[in-house]
Amino acid sequence: MSAVAELGTAPAAAPARAARRRAEQAGALDRPTVSFELFPPRNPDAAPRLWSTVRELETVEPDFVSVTYGASGHTRQTTRALVRRLLRETSLNPIAHLTCVGTSRDEITTIVEEFLDEGVRSFLALRGDPPAGEPDWRPHPDGVHTAAELVELLRDIEQRRCGRSPAQAVRARVRPLSVAVAAFPRGNHATGGTRAQDVQALLAKQEAGADFAISQVFFDAEAYLGLVAEARDAGVTIPIVPGIIPTTDPARLLRVQELTGVPVPQHLLDLLGAADDAAERHRRGTQAGVDLVNRVLDGGAPGVHVYTFNKHEAALDLLDGADLVGGRRCAVTPPDLTAPDGTPADATTTTPRGNLS
Ligand code: FAD
Repeated sequence: MSAVAELGTAPAAAPARAARRRAEQAGALDRPTVSFELFPPRNPDAAPRLWSTVRELETVEPDFVSVTYGASGHTRQTTRALVRRLLRETSLNPIAHLTCVGTSRDEITTIVEEFLDEGVRSFLALRGDPPAGEPDWRPHPDGVHTAAELVELLRDIEQRRCGRSPAQAVRARVRPLSVAVAAFPRGNHATGGTRAQDVQALLAKQEAGADFAISQVFFDAEAYLGLVAEARDAGVTIPIVPGIIPTTDPARLLRVQELTGVPVPQHLLDLLGAADDAAERHRRGTQAGVDLVNRVLDGGAPGVHVYTFNKHEAALDLLDGADLVGGRRCAVTPPDLTAPDGTPADATTTTPRGNLS
């Protein structure tokens, strides 16, 4: 089996895409969501490049962009500045990541109030990782202990604001607070948590008021689809958006492995390593990513969240390869494509989205 095939080339992907295009032409358009993760520029020199990336990403009209929040809240101000600028100067809908690390409940409340005052209505509530050099995660003595508790706190803060001001209560109805959370396809390698534990944590996040989840990176569709199936069995009903990393840069992949503990399959590294030049490596990596995106969408994923690392080329090539740019792809089961003579137009093509999302 070739490396590309091992990475999950779905034999039915091409006809399935054709069926989706026909469905779209027939008017049954419900395109998968497209979104991106950005991080605040690490220094002033990095800002111009980030902004040129932002402008490129804006051209494909993503549903949202999420902005990371560094370990120990080191980027609290830079996250806030980037989110504010995205709100004011672009057409993008930013989601601010928020963590519990090293922060008391009062401090979190202040941070959230500041975001809300600036018009931010979407958060990704996370526990966060321990600060660099600290092996174990320890909650702040007056802080929250889990992402689920952070979701609860966000909901409480919003409720108190609405209680204080009827105007705010109206605004909250017009632009409801949206809270996303993290999910881990093969368990959280960073915390040593199993998938079963993470599914229980996801259920707790949902019960606390989470609206949807975004997954950690993964390299095989079965990891994501298995998580969704297990989560549904456990009673998780919120959508789980797969987090996809463009697989074009081996050094980047190994760095992600180091940071997240999610192992990069050797066959993917071999596939990229066997390329003659950078262009061929990019093509191979993009194709591997497209295959993965096709597999998860065909399995029912509501859309894709692309980890950009503040670069647009690989992210946009990935979306383009998967026919997701410009809203060309249709996520719903196509309408009856039976030809007038009764022959199914493409009987083998469509994997129904089912109840996975
Ligand atoms: P939690 O849900 O609190 O889980 C932490 C641990 O406790 C897990 O092992 C979990 O299994 C266990 N647990 C919690 N509740 C339960 C329960 N009820 N039952 C059983 N077990 C439970 N980190 C940053 O610092 N900044 C970022 O911007 C950032 N962005 C991220 C974006 C995404 C999409 C993802 C997937 C991760 C991101 N992270 C970020 C990393 C994340 O903060 C860490 O992986 C962290 O270790 C776990 O976060 P959590 O929100 O899932 O925490």
